[in-house]
Order: sequence, then C-alpha cells, then structure tokens
Amino acid sequence: MNEKIIHINTSKEYDVVIGRNLLGNAGEMIRKAADPRIVAIVSDDNVFALYEPVLKESLTRQGISVEQFVFPHGECSKCISVYEELLEFLCERRLTRSDMVAALGGGVTGDLAGFAAATYQRGINYVQIPTTLLAAVDSSVGGKTAVNLRGGKNQAGCFYQPSLVICDVDTLSTLPEREYKNGCAEVIKYGMIKDEAFLMNLKERDAHEWIDDVIARCVEMKREVVSADEFDTGERMLLNFGHTLGHGVEKCSDFSVSHGFAVAQGMAVITKNAQIKGICAEGTYELLTGILEKYGLPAVIKYDPEDIAKAACVDKKSQGGQISLIIPEAPGKCVIRKIPAAEIIQWAS
Ligand code: ADP
Ligand code: ZN
Repeated sequence: MNEKIIHINTSKEYDVVIGRNLLGNAGEMIRKAADPRIVAIVSDDNVFALYEPVLKESLTRQGISVEQFVFPHGECSKCISVYEELLEFLCERRLTRSDMVAALGGGVTGDLAGFAAATYQRGINYVQIPTTLLAAVDSSVGGKTAVNLRGGKNQAGCFYQPSLVICDVDTLSTLPEREYKNGCAEVIKYGMIKDEAFLMNLKERDAHEWIDDVIARCVEMKREVVSADEFDTGERMLLNFGHTLGHGVEKCSDFSVSHGFAVAQGMAVITKNAQIKGICAEGTYELLTGILEKYGLPAVIKYDPEDIAKAACVDKKSQGGQISLIIPEAPGKCVIRKIPAAEIIQWAS
C-alpha cells in the first residue's frame, strides 16, 4: 500500500492515514489503534448508504461489534437535539470507555460525533473517517468538536483529539461538485498562510490531478500549527484566515452561502484591503483571486460592509473589543494582528 501517514503529536498522539481503498482495511487500523469491543458508526444518511457497508464489514472481520447511528444530512443536524439522541444511543447500546465512536462523513458528522465521544462517560475514543475534502484537510484533524446553538455556530464544544484519522481518498469520488469547491477554499487558505510553492502548484496544476498529495500537504501544515498551539490561543489562529469576514458572510446570507464559498470571499476581501493599506505585497490579491476563480470560488462580498462587520464582531473571536484578524503580507505568509472591533468595517468591503 502506498498510503501516507502523518503523525500528530498533540497531548494525545495519533496518526492521520491518507490513501486509497482504506475503508476496507479500516477495521484492522482501528483495532491496532484502540482495540475496541464495539464501534458505533455515526454517519449522515447520504454517506451511510455509500460507505457504511464496507466499513462495517471490515470491522466485523476483526471481531468488532458494530452499532449504527444515522442522522439526516445537513448542518441542521449539528445541534443539541441530535447530540442528545446520540448520547442516549451510546448509553442504550451500552458502550463503555473501552469502546469507540467512528465519525464517517464530512465536517458535520466529525464535529457532532467528536463532541459526543468527548462527553460520553467523560470521553471515549473516536476515529475520524472524513469523506469530504473540507473534513479531510481541516476539520478531521486537530480535535475541535462542536455543535451549534440557536445563538451561533459551534458555540458548544471542546478540544478532544481522535485516536486515529483514516482518510480514504476514494470516497471523494462521489462528492458533489459544490462540496469539492468548499474544500478547495480551505486548501487555498493553507497555501496563502504557509506555503507559497504549494499555492503556485495549485495555480499551475488542477488539484484533482494530485489530490492525495494536496490533502497530505494540508494535513502537514495543520499539524504544524496545531502542535504548536493545540488550544487555539496563538499560531493556530492563522487557520482563521478569511474566516472572520467569512462568518459574517455566512450569517448575512442566513447560511445560504456555504462555508468554503464564504471563506473564499473573506480571504479575497482581506487581501485586497491589506494590499491597499500597503501591508501586503503587490500582486498577491490578483494571484489569489486568479486561483479562486480557477477553482470556481467567488472573490467578492455582496453584502453591506456594515452588516458584515456587525456579524463578524459578535463572533467568538472578539475579545474585549479586540478582534484577531489574519492578514496576508505576501503569498504564503500571513500574520495575526489584534485590531479594535470598530475597525473591522475598514476591512469588510
Ligand atoms: P462539511 O464537510 O462541508 O462540513 P457535511 O458534513 O455537511 O459538510 O457534508 C456535506 C454534504 O456532502 C452532506 O450532504 C453529506 O451528506 C455529503 N457527503 C459527504 N461526503 C460525501 C461523499 N463522499 N459522497 C457524497 N456525498 C457526501
Ligand atoms: Zn473553515
């Protein structure tokens, strides 16, 4: 097998395995990583129908019992009531701390199942099995778990690292185009914050052609920031590039603009303003928007800057009237600057 293994050394250490045809061997990998008696597979209805049978078969082949928790796909399921149902399910099926949760799906599944695993019996092991590009390059690694509250996205959650991440790139073959583009926005983000050469590669070659390496490079970059700052008080904030304004766009659109598309707009607008203010090297904005366009992503925010600023400022990153804004200085190099929340409007149009 020619899979790539990236070791993450946070407080709990684990491997991210990236490759082809991995689901069929997931049972063996899971047994070696945590040796569970029961695995509760958590998945949305779409992903369950496509990939659960192979995963289940590979688990039962290892003598592991399987329980299945399926929920309706979509962000609406990342809520307290589904979280509660999942906890009750784990309890009813008598899972113990020597058992395991398997999050099979995109970011919604990973966040929900991760938070349930983190809190059930004060924490049981879980494995992330991302099936979207966004989850593969971002949400499945680093241990952020959460559900949404009525008052905002990801407002209840905790840091809780998985025992293993299995990224079977073959599962991306069924991903809808829009979801692929969503993930591409995060991929481009990594290039902008950390790696100019990678960014230029994304410009020259279609990511589709070398997607295994694209995912691996993004996970490596995520490893660097997450191991330096597991609990998101410093360097890890770099990963929020484009996200403050992006969250504003998501909110102003009542979440009809999806995450990656909103982040793309946020990255472009911040970069434009950084360049106008002379903080960012000439040509960076043009380079970024060219790449966004190539991957079918938007670069313009269509909402009123005042509304965007207001929506961005109630974000959880606003502390004591200050906002940590991630600002590009050049392709592949971003810095964290604290700015007064009142100034965010200068960056929002
Ligand atoms: P994200 O990963 O962007 O946070 P979700 O977890 O909501 O988002 O997944 C996005 C959508 O894509 C959901 O409707 C989900 O059912 C679907 N999906 C996830 N993975 C796959 C896949 N490999 N093939 C087809 N559809 C998928
Ligand atoms: Zn994101």
